[in-house]
Amino acid sequence: LTLGVLGAGQLGRMMALAGVPLELRCRFLDPSPESPARYMGEFLQGDFEGDQQCLDRFVAGVDRVTYEFENVPVQSARYLAERVPVYPPPQALEVAQDRVLEKNFFQKSGIAVPPFAPVSSLDELQAAVKEIGLPAVLKTRRMGYDGKGQFVLRSPEDVNEAWGRLGSVPLVLEGFVSFEREVSILAVRAVDGEVAFYPLVENVHREGILRLSRTVPGGMAPALQQTAETYAARIMNELDYVGVLAVEFFVHEGRLLANEMAPRVHNSGHWTIEGAATSQFENHLRAVMGWPLGATDCVLPSAMLNIIGTPPDRAAVLAVPGAHLHLYDKKPGAGRKLGHVTLCAPEVAELEQRLASLLPVVDSQASV
Ligand code: AMP
Repeated sequence: LTLGVLGAGQLGRMMALAGVPLELRCRFLDPSPESPARYMGEFLQGDFEGDQQCLDRFVAGVDRVTYEFENVPVQSARYLAERVPVYPPPQALEVAQDRVLEKNFFQKSGIAVPPFAPVSSLDELQAAVKEIGLPAVLKTRRMGYDGKGQFVLRSPEDVNEAWGRLGSVPLVLEGFVSFEREVSILAVRAVDGEVAFYPLVENVHREGILRLSRTVPGGMAPALQQTAETYAARIMNELDYVGVLAVEFFVHEGRLLANEMAPRVHNSGHWTIEGAATSQFENHLRAVMGWPLGATDCVLPSAMLNIIGTPPDRAAVLAVPGAHLHLYDKKPGAGRKLGHVTLCAPEVAELEQRLASLLPVVDSQASV
C-alpha cells in the first residue's frame, strides 16, 4: 500500500516512520531537494501547483493522498481528489488557509474566537483599531506560520509601520488576548465518523515559535478538555473530516478562544510518539487508510521541547533519563525547527527535574 504525501518536511518524515510497521509506504512530493523526508520513501521533487504532469506522476498508483503541509494549493488537492481519496478533505485545507474564513467558520460553529476584523486598506486598519482597541495583532490572512507575517500594535503610532510592513497582502486584525495559557487539542476522525481525542497540552511559544508542549496530568480543568473535544468534534463533523486535526486555543478568563486549526498532524502532538498509547502519526495513517483508530490515552507524563536554530550535542541529550531525541535532517538556521526531544517520566515531579537538566543542553538561553 502506498500513501501519497504532499510535502516532505519533518511531519512527513515522522509519518513515514509510523507507516513502516504497517507496511505502508509513502510517496512524497515537495519542491525542495533538501526535504527532511527525502530518504523516507519515494521522493518526487516538484511543484504542488501548475504542473499537472507532476501531480499525475505523484498520484499514479497511490492508494490515498494526504498532506503534511497545509499551504498546498486547494485546486491541486481537488484535482487529486478526483483521482483517489484525499484526506483530510480539500475543504478543510481551504478553511485553514485563510484566517478570516477560519474564524468565520469557528463562529458559525459556535466556537468562541478573539475579536477580529478583515483588513485590506489603511482606512480599514484604522477603523479596525478603533473597533477592536489596542493592543492588537495584525496578521496576514494567508501563509503565516511560526509567528511570521504578524505585527503587534501597541499604540496608535504603530498603525503606519504595521501597514507598511504587512499591507501588501490581505490582513486580519485580532484583539490581543492576555491569555493565562495556550493549549491545543489533537483530534482524529476515521472514515466511518469515529472520533478520538488526545488530552489537551499546554504550549509555550517564544518569538511566535512553539518551544515547549507538555501534558498536564490532573492540572487541566476537565471542563476545558470537554469543551475542546466538543469544538474539535464539531469542526471535524462539519467538514466531513478524516485524519488528525489540531486546534490551538488561548485560555482566557478560564474559557477557550480558538486561535487556529491545522488540518494535519501537529508539532504540539509530537509527545504522542512516546507518551501516548498510539502516536498522532499512526492515528493519522489509520484514519486516512480507513483502519480503526488506536487508543489516545497519555501513558506517561510527557513534555516536548523543540530544537530551534542550532543542533544540540546528541550524547548530552541522550544522557538525560527519559529523553527521546528526534532530529529532522535539516540545515541549521535561525528560527528553524531542527528536531525535538520528548521527555517522559513516571511522575510529574520527576518530569520537571528532567526538564530542568534538559533545557541547558538543548538551548543555552534556557528558560521557558
Ligand atoms: P499564530 O500564528 O496565530 O498561531 O500565532 C503565533 C503565536 O503568537 C500564538 O501562539 C500566540 O503565542 C501569539 N499570538 C497570536 N495571536 C495572538 C493574539 N490575538 N493575542 C495574543 N497572542 C497572540
